[in-house]
Amino acid sequence: MCVQSGGLDITLPKFHLHQITFLRSLKVRIFLILLIVGLIPCFVMRYAILQNYERRAVSVRSSNIATQVRILANHLISRRYLEDTSSEVINAELEQFSNLYDGRVLIINTELRIVKDTYGISEGKTIISEEVIRCLRGESTEGYDRENGYIEMTIPITETVEADLPVGAGDTIELVRGVMLVSASNDSIIATMDSLDRQAMVVESIVGVLIFVVTLLVSKYLFQPFKKMIEALDQVQEGYTNDPISVTDCLETEHIGDAFNRVLGRMKMLDDSRQEFVSNVSHELRTPITSMKVLADSLITQKDVPLEVYQEFMTDIAAEIEREDKIINDLLSLVKMDRKAADLNISQVDINALVELIMKRLRPIAMRRDVQLVYESLRPVTASVDEVKLTLALSNLVENAIKYNKEHGFVKVTLDADHQYFTVQVEDSGVGIPEDELEHIYERFYRVDKSRSREIGGTGLGLAITRSAVLMHRGSIKVSSLEGEGTDFTVKIPLKYIVSQPEERRRKRRA
Ligand code: ADP
Repeated sequence: MCVQSGGLDITLPKFHLHQITFLRSLKVRIFLILLIVGLIPCFVMRYAILQNYERRAVSVRSSNIATQVRILANHLISRRYLEDTSSEVINAELEQFSNLYDGRVLIINTELRIVKDTYGISEGKTIISEEVIRCLRGESTEGYDRENGYIEMTIPITETVEADLPVGAGDTIELVRGVMLVSASNDSIIATMDSLDRQAMVVESIVGVLIFVVTLLVSKYLFQPFKKMIEALDQVQEGYTNDPISVTDCLETEHIGDAFNRVLGRMKMLDDSRQEFVSNVSHELRTPITSMKVLADSLITQKDVPLEVYQEFMTDIAAEIEREDKIINDLLSLVKMDRKAADLNISQVDINALVELIMKRLRPIAMRRDVQLVYESLRPVTASVDEVKLTLALSNLVENAIKYNKEHGFVKVTLDADHQYFTVQVEDSGVGIPEDELEHIYERFYRVDKSRSREIGGTGLGLAITRSAVLMHRGSIKVSSLEGEGTDFTVKIPLKYIVSQPEERRRKRRA
């Protein structure tokens, strides 16, 4: 929010309910909810009851007053009070009425002159008011002044006389001779209402206190399992126990415990695999170094070593260095693959050209091993891929097919596509992979035949790299193999790489 005042920009911080610390407590929230749910009906009921009582009480009092005033009006007429206000009987009746209703009575004649005021202050004065004029036309009025707490009404003083006109024998008409203007206090009703209001407030306070107590008890009962949960988590965190968390007091804590145990299990698995990977890496890196040390030591300890032996040992040392270099390179490739998919450098690539280039690079190795390389492209394919990573993935497959082949064997690479995916199939007529080993071949440093793999320069990282690269492209890799007959790898990759939303955000942030 930004408020501009006299050229000054005042930026007000945005206000969020959850920023109020005490409102973040579930106990406080439950208390407030119960308080609202409990007290709102009390308030509504108090208001409705008081309103209803007031309406009814005013209506009953008004009708009582009207009846009394009408009786008084008849007496006034019969005693000719409007012409002569000295009648003691009427004056006493008026006095009694005023006392009874704690009010004031004005008697007004047709000339709008006040002939009697029970307060005795306005007699002889003229009164001009809408109600009085309407009443002189025969219309009674009634009003309730809520603020000042009194009922006001005008009642016409009528006389029944025989009609002058010959409308029929015995016909009578009502003639208005004056007006009785009465105002009666409502203090008794207001006092009753005040007392009712006080009682309702007492009830509300009791309800408030009860809700507070109930909230304390309920929250203590409800939060007991969560308290246990926190204690259990603390114990795991402080390392007292490795046992799975189980708080079965309620379904929610049971679910939280299960979810936490799953996370814990996954973390443990990751930790185990990390430790295994680190020990594998150090073992793999140490092997060539140990060999080099043995070779170097034997050269150092021997006297007068012939030149041929020197040359032979140095060649072996160079091979070990090359091997060490290959392991390090493969490890670096794998680390790169482990990064997020956002690191993919996607572009439109001619897959036919890419596969042809791979085949061209590997042809010398195939020739050295007397393996025939065949490439069959069923259609031209262009796809959005990371060229470097896909090249690495496919090169590993073709290189393996050559490495683990037999003499006079063949490797056939087939490229095909439909409207959504392209597939690269690498078949070979090699040694094959035993069925029970198939599920492990993508693991880092896993080799079916360790000595053979090492002999032909394998690091056990090739297929792990290939799989990572394929998965990064949201593709899949399948293998089928028959021991002694050959192996068949099929890679399937979408033609169009669709960037996911979180990935897009990450890319933009980086840009
Ligand atoms: P390496 O560097 O040892 O070749 P890889 O990860 O590429 O490691 O392969 C893992 C293991 O899977 C290899 O050691 C080999 O035993 C087996 N393997 C991979 N490709 C083939 C294949 N085409 N034919 C037979 N065995 C294979």
